[in-house]
Amino acid sequence: MDRKFDALILGGGAAGLMCAAEAGKRGRRVAVIEHADRPGKKILISGGGRCNFTNTHCQPEHFLSANPHFVKSALARYTPADFIALVEKHHIPYHEKTEGQLFCDRSAEEILKMLEAECAAAGVQIFPGTKINEVERAAEFVVRAESGVFRAQALVVATGGLSIPKMGATGFGYDVARKFGLTIRATRPALVPFVLGVNDRNQYCDLAGVSAEVAVSTGDHAFRDKMLFTHRGLSGPAILQISSYWNAGEPIRIDLAPGRDIAAATGDAKTRNTAAVRLALQGFLPHRFAKRWVDLHTPAAWNNPALAALDRQTHEWILVPQGTEGYEKAEVTAGGVDTDELSSKTMESRKMPGLFFIGEVVDVTGHLGGHNFQWAWASGASAGRAL
Ligand SMILES: Cc1cc2nc3c(=O)[nH]c(=O)nc-3n(C[C@H](O)[C@H](O)[C@H](O)COP(=O)(O)OP(=O)(O)OC[C@H]3O[C@@H](n4cnc5c(N)ncnc54)[C@H](O)[C@@H]3O)c2cc1C
Repeated sequence: MDRKFDALILGGGAAGLMCAAEAGKRGRRVAVIEHADRPGKKILISGGGRCNFTNTHCQPEHFLSANPHFVKSALARYTPADFIALVEKHHIPYHEKTEGQLFCDRSAEEILKMLEAECAAAGVQIFPGTKINEVERAAEFVVRAESGVFRAQALVVATGGLSIPKMGATGFGYDVARKFGLTIRATRPALVPFVLGVNDRNQYCDLAGVSAEVAVSTGDHAFRDKMLFTHRGLSGPAILQISSYWNAGEPIRIDLAPGRDIAAATGDAKTRNTAAVRLALQGFLPHRFAKRWVDLHTPAAWNNPALAALDRQTHEWILVPQGTEGYEKAEVTAGGVDTDELSSKTMESRKMPGLFFIGEVVDVTGHLGGHNFQWAWASGASAGRAL
């Protein structure tokens, strides 16, 4: 089999399908080459099976990248309102959870079916279960797969990042980028739970399943949200968010009582003792955690300086995570194809005309809450309109 198209899209995930539909609508003959048995598998497991498909507050500030300005053009060209309009055109019911996060009422499957329907209507051909052996460029791009050869003037790399290898994630996109001389920014797992060191694990991890509202920070970055104890460390939205900014070996600071004055609460108690402190903490921390915290931080005396010290410790629990749970559990991969290599309007390589990179393979990583899909849609649409 030797087939010729206008554009070949490697990877039929969120970004690849969006790009294919946009290019197909403009009359381009498009092939999506996907190695998994069906496209969009990550969409199906996203948002706990309900797909947090966008965030109505999505702004460039919600992304990490060596060049924080890079996302601006694509995000302005394809907005959350554009994707919502598509969802509404397909009569998919959805709801807002918190802070602009939009989820399907029923199932993430509906988002995938919507994208497949858009592709089908635009005449896009999808080739699932297609293992790629080689990508090269002569007069045009040539993709040699086990099932045949694909040729086109344009090649879009949409193979995603390294997170969740058992879902089909590969470093293939980075290999293609390197092959064509593009620079890769070092990759690392992001939006990922922390593993604690042995001492902290022994002290806290039997609390697995317990969660609390905290403010967590590292360097200049801070998030206020839920933290969850796990069997090996810490997770929950606040922890996942800060993990994207964490550098190995650095401490994180956790305020277990954001905005609360513990010293005042305990100082007012008629009897200053362990029970009074525990009671004060139980006003905002889960009972089991409050008890453990007081057991491990019982003041040496019941005077004002000792209570002030407990107050400080509770507002600034300093931990050095042993590491993260890695790509196996990371929601996304930070780093990737250097944005300096790409046009921010079209995602086309500056060095190699006709070669595009979109979605997670690019050095753009969103905060939790629908921003990563919005980047996939926006970068995919930008490239699709340029093909
Ligand atoms: C558990 C989980 C939940 C998530 N939930 C959300 C959420 O609710 N909201 C949100 O915004 N983000 C969420 N994300 C992140 C989001 O899924 C990604 O940011 C997004 O899917 C990236 O889109 P992409 O198209 O770049 O990559 P992907 O969607 O990963 O697609 C890449 C595609 O390329 C294929 N591929 C890989 N290598 C090859 C190869 N060598 N040959 C051919 N094909 C290949 C893959 O099989 C895949 O289909 C979640 C991630 C995970 C892991």
